[in-house]
Amino acid sequence: MIECPSCGRRQAPRLICENCGVPLGAEVDGFAVFSLRRKLVVDASALERVYHELSRQIHPDRFAQDSARVRAASLRSTALLTRSYRTLRDPVARGLYWLELHGEKLADRNQTVPPDLAQLVFEVQDELAELRDARGADLERLREGTRARRVELENAMNALQGDLVRNFERWDAGGDAPQLIVELKAVLAKIAYLRTLLRDVDRGLENLQAA
Ligand SMILES: [Zn+2]
Repeated sequence: MIECPSCGRRQAPRLICENCGVPLGAEVDGFAVFSLRRKLVVDASALERVYHELSRQIHPDRFAQDSARVRAASLRSTALLTRSYRTLRDPVARGLYWLELHGEKLADRNQTVPPDLAQLVFEVQDELAELRDARGADLERLREGTRARRVELENAMNALQGDLVRNFERWDAGGDAPQLIVELKAVLAKIAYLRTLLRDVDRGLENLQAA
């Protein structure tokens, strides 16, 4: 239980005092910030609407004349709201946060390449190395190849985002948590890897333009 910095009402931690509407400055989980049940499929436009509404209600400008405790609570709650919004609106960030709520996390960045991606990663790195050293007509041909590769990677990324949503739906339907955690980790690891690969491809292409 925490105490409201304005009216003194004791209550379970939440974003805003149930009695007087002042921000409480309490740490609560991202779903609780939005008064959402812990469901992974989130309606993005509803989330955005509620975010703007809550931002207005707890904005520090509204409490400029209040006590230092209320002003501090408003700052803390505003930071929590912003952080929670960024986490929940992005499916990948939401998935990672979900793992965290289950006491899990992805392995470190220098993990081994997910097996289904190993071949692809190898080929792309190879192509980028060739592209770096290419000149003249070779360069044009390889550049086209890398552009086509970029489209392929984006399609693969879209497919993984689809896998992620299907994993979320199965959580929400009450699926088997240990199994879903394994799958969620696998999808998120692949997405993280593809993101890195896409960034490398973009850099490879940009460096050509700069040269
Ligand atoms: Zn209050």
